[in-house]
Amino acid sequence: MSVLASLSIESIRAGLLTKKFSAEELTKQALAFAETENPKTNAYLTFSPERALAAAKAVDAKIAKGEDPGPLAGVPVAVKDVIVTRGVRTTCGSKLLANYIPPYDATAVIRLEQAGAVILGKTNCDEFAMGSSNENSAFGAVRNPVALDRVPGGSSGGSAAVVAQETALVSLGSDTGGSIRQPASFCGIVGVTPTYGRVSRYGLTAFASSLDHIGPFAKTVEDAAKLLQVTAGRDEMDATSSSSPVPDYASALNGNVRGLKIGFPKEYFAGLSGDTATRVYQALDDLTKLGCELHEISLPHTAYAIACYYVIATAEASANLARYDGVRYTTRSTNANTLSDMYRHTRDEGFGEECKRRIMLGTYVLSAGYYDAYYLKAQRVRRLIAQDFATAFQEVDAIVAPVSPFPAFKIGEKVADPVAMYLSDIYTITGSLAGIPCMSVPCGKTSDGLPVGLQILAKHFDESSMFRLAHAYQQATH
Ligand code: GLN
Repeated sequence: MSVLASLSIESIRAGLLTKKFSAEELTKQALAFAETENPKTNAYLTFSPERALAAAKAVDAKIAKGEDPGPLAGVPVAVKDVIVTRGVRTTCGSKLLANYIPPYDATAVIRLEQAGAVILGKTNCDEFAMGSSNENSAFGAVRNPVALDRVPGGSSGGSAAVVAQETALVSLGSDTGGSIRQPASFCGIVGVTPTYGRVSRYGLTAFASSLDHIGPFAKTVEDAAKLLQVTAGRDEMDATSSSSPVPDYASALNGNVRGLKIGFPKEYFAGLSGDTATRVYQALDDLTKLGCELHEISLPHTAYAIACYYVIATAEASANLARYDGVRYTTRSTNANTLSDMYRHTRDEGFGEECKRRIMLGTYVLSAGYYDAYYLKAQRVRRLIAQDFATAFQEVDAIVAPVSPFPAFKIGEKVADPVAMYLSDIYTITGSLAGIPCMSVPCGKTSDGLPVGLQILAKHFDESSMFRLAHAYQQATH
């Protein structure tokens, strides 16, 4: 059994301060367990034992000197492999970056380590975070620890799997259209997409820059809130990071939810069926028992969200992925005699099918003659979707919805049909387009034992209300 099974951020801190264990001992045990268990899921791509042990020893040294070891002292963390780590291979799930060793750390990584966290390694993901099942990784699919023949969701599949498998206590993922919430729901854990700009994107490999977010995974809302606390806040290295002050999320957790007005969008429930519907409706019931007031609301432009997202996200991706040309840090094709052949062959050999599909789509929607019809129109639709939320939030304090129309599907089940795969994100993409905070919290299991997630969405920068509701719900139902 994992040493992490019964631990939390708080109990690790208490254990360290009362000398029940040292950070070095905990790290060694957690790493040994992770290395033995990883072949079952393929969730880690790289372990970073040297870096982990150095961080653990620094925590122990602080404690020995009577200094505060930090809010995440000794906490074993895993980091999605689209987030750069100095000196530790960062592949983005792509063959192109199979040997890439970044010369710098992402701001979120720096902040984690400054808070005392111990980074055990880097987690598998869909190539450049494009996917909903983790099957688009150049390094093989990840298996869901809850049901090994099923996907863990994507694109942050590895980051969700390690927390569920207890090979890390918490982890960082990234979300562009659902990549934190959907894997959290498939693996039965908590996943948080903060407000756009709440966490610096410096060092997060760009997929669709206006939609990319870094966010935490944890077993509990409390631990996820603690991870966000440390990583949030203005960063001079990311011009889109917000300077609005970061509230104390821990103190928001225990507030009352009685009388909180909760909206449930009718468009999200209309097509919901099976055990997912049963579990999500049960969650609505549980929220009323906690004293929340439920209101049916409408988000009328929901039907256009997937089309809108796959225009905007692919447009931005086609520009962002232009840098992988074999000249600088990518692997380079050796099968070319001229510069332009080198570009072409590097990209042809290096990118997987899904990336190529998106580069072509994105280049097309941005091209002269089509820009207005596709890209510009999608931007207008995005504004309408954001406006739907703004209108709803005049009436309600938070919104609840399903995360995914179905639970974890079988590995291989949807690979041949990209549109079916894209539909996985039907309930998560709207929040991403609006840039509001949203999260997934476990709300039970299907009759086959597959986890179902409840999505909670809140106003821009109101992570506190979202956490308060999610924490009250988790306390009451687990
Ligand atoms: N599944 C969506 C996509 O493939 C979202 C991915 C993400 O959030 N990174 O684009």
